[in-house]
Amino acid sequence: MGYNVAIDGPAGAGKSTIAKLVAEEKGYIYVDTGAMYRGLAIHFLDRGIQAEDTVKIIEACKDADVKIQYEDGVQQVYLNGVNVTGRLRDEAVGRMTSKCSVIPEVRAKLLDLQKGLARTQDVVMDGRDIGTCVLPDADVKVYLTASVRTRAKRRYDELIAKGGVCDLNEIEKDIRERDERDMNRETAPLRQAKDAVLIDSSDMTIEEVVRRIVGLCE
Ligand code: C5P
Repeated sequence: MGYNVAIDGPAGAGKSTIAKLVAEEKGYIYVDTGAMYRGLAIHFLDRGIQAEDTVKIIEACKDADVKIQYEDGVQQVYLNGVNVTGRLRDEAVGRMTSKCSVIPEVRAKLLDLQKGLARTQDVVMDGRDIGTCVLPDADVKVYLTASVRTRAKRRYDELIAKGGVCDLNEIEKDIRERDERDMNRETAPLRQAKDAVLIDSSDMTIEEVVRRIVGLCE
């Protein structure tokens, strides 16, 4: 069994930024489970399946093969042998992912892959259900959150920095909807595990959060 660090939390809490830095410092592998869900969502989108069509999504799971590989230390997602990493952050993919990840068959599809990665290697794995479902025996569990406004503002700044045009209130509305879906779905809802350390990053710098988590690792 590898040394396992589980980081869960809502959209925009800074999980991936923080998890990557913790992994780098500790020499562990960073596993972005959201990217795996996004990879699977691309499979459904490319088949023209609507997010509401649960039957077709379950059927399409059968011929989806999601794999991850590391190239220069960066996680790459392969869908049926094709590298789809460049498409993962598309808005349409994000919307489909948030909707289709409520389906138990979609979650089951990725569970073994996630568990397998942590069995043999030291990992920092981030997602929504890592401490509660995927790695219930993780050595360190963190529930990373921040106020909705802070999370919306971070995403807004990110998009603006990329030269995008966006509306802060729209982003906040989208984040609220994603939280609602992630926290209230029946299978593996987003919850703080009983033994997870709660970190509210609203008034913390990235460096402060990283130090706090590194400090939890033996
Ligand atoms: O973390 P990221 O924003 O990439 O995740 C995209 C979506 O995938 C989330 O909104 C969530 O619905 C889903 N997800 C999940 N369980 C995980 C990781 C992501 O349901 N472990």
